Amino acid sequence: VLEGKPGGKCVALRADMDALPVQELNDVPYRSKNENMHACGHEAHVAALLGAVKILKEHTDEFTGSVKFIFQPGEEGPAGARYMIEEGVLQNPKVDGIFAGHTGSAKPYMTKGQIGITYGPAMAASDLLTFTVKGKGGHGANPSGAIDPIVAAAYIITALQTAVSRETSLKDPAVLTVGVIQGGTAANIIPDQVIFKATLRTLTNEMREYMRKRVGEIAKGVAQGLRVECDYVIDAGYPPVVCNDAMTDIVKGAAEKIVGAENVQVQSPPDMGGEDAAYYFAEVPGTYWNHKSQDPDMAPHHNACFDIDDSTLWSMTAVMCQTALDFLAK
Ligand SMILES: [Zn+2]
Ligand SMILES: [Zn+2]
Repeated sequence: VLEGKPGGKCVALRADMDALPVQELNDVPYRSKNENMHACGHEAHVAALLGAVKILKEHTDEFTGSVKFIFQPGEEGPAGARYMIEEGVLQNPKVDGIFAGHTGSAKPYMTKGQIGITYGPAMAASDLLTFTVKGKGGHGANPSGAIDPIVAAAYIITALQTAVSRETSLKDPAVLTVGVIQGGTAANIIPDQVIFKATLRTLTNEMREYMRKRVGEIAKGVAQGLRVECDYVIDAGYPPVVCNDAMTDIVKGAAEKIVGAENVQVQSPPDMGGEDAAYYFAEVPGTYWNHKSQDPDMAPHHNACFDIDDSTLWSMTAVMCQTALDFLAK
């Protein structure tokens, strides 16, 4: 925490800092040696935020309030943001607003050095759904003596697609993908049960709740008609990342001062991937912004050849500093 002049608000700047279990293939002097690499640019976030610490430290007599610098582990996996919140990162001093930036590929229509901002939903909530369809096993030649969970599971999976295609609008979309289906051992055996797993992606808490309820109703309704039982379990992933409009306006104004209005883009459509910054935004006003640091031919995020152009990094630091100052001045 950096204290400016007494009083005022507290603004938080967040950098996630974790790496991924990927063996780096880049032939560069800073190549990772331990089979983990920063394939998402989080080390650049750390560098950019350290730069902001250094610069703002030299100007503490020019702002009122405080700046909290959050170096956060575990964004790619176990919800590091949630653990940090539970351990009090948003208290003492109490954080009034938070900004989280990400560098890398950003949107394909953006060019290197541009800043992307978002109003409203930026990234999706992800839930893992596991369905268990229970029938009664038997001989494949005598289906009337059994209750076939394979046929039932096929109907349930098909019917579930209508939750997205018939019940959501383009204004509040959802994605439901069944990526695992397991059941049976031989062609002439009707198994006792089938298990299938799906990922559910939604952009608002309202649609998330609606879809969680509807997939259960559809699955159980079809199951009842086909004489099987269908139970399902939801493993909740990250909540949706929803940006606060007033906070996005602050990044917009700050970024325009740094890179010019022509290099600030409003991003759309939202990204159906997830981000644990969602946990901060559920507690305090916040926004998520992107910093494009790649040319079109560079490797995508999470790829073993991922890299960024370091010469762009200054503007990530500069936007961090400017957003903090503009927030505190409001
Ligand atoms: Zn990542
Ligand atoms: Zn990332």
